[in-house]
Amino acid sequence: MICLNCGKDIGMGNKFCPNCGKPTQIANKDNVGSIIIKRENKYVGSLVKFDVFIDDEAVGKLSNGGTLSFDMPLGSYDVKLSAAGSNVVREVDLTEKNKIVEITIVCKMGMVTGKPYIKSVEYK
Ligand SMILES: [Zn+2]
Repeated sequence: MICLNCGKDIGMGNKFCPNCGKPTQIANKDNVGSIIIKRENKYVGSLVKFDVFIDDEAVGKLSNGGTLSFDMPLGSYDVKLSAAGSNVVREVDLTEKNKIVEITIVCKMGMVTGKPYIKSVEYK
């Protein structure tokens, strides 16, 4: 399988490219869903960025009011957000009937000690 982001041959079954770290695409679009992670725009913790992991792979940073979206083969994934040593983890299940999951995150605590909390998980 070729990584669509960096073009490197990455073998089969990798959820993420070992070279560039981006989620890999699979050829059949019927087997692809989306994980959407939205962070509400809040004054509290607005300077804190959350590190986002899917199955323990770092996939990006989520700023205040930001949204990250990942196209993923159907399956189960552990979505983790981390800031200041505080983690939240949620397992999501992308299936043929629930191809899109939208996770809404809020930040609590102070300006520079913000911690991620999961507000809602919605399948579409
Ligand atoms: Zn790559």
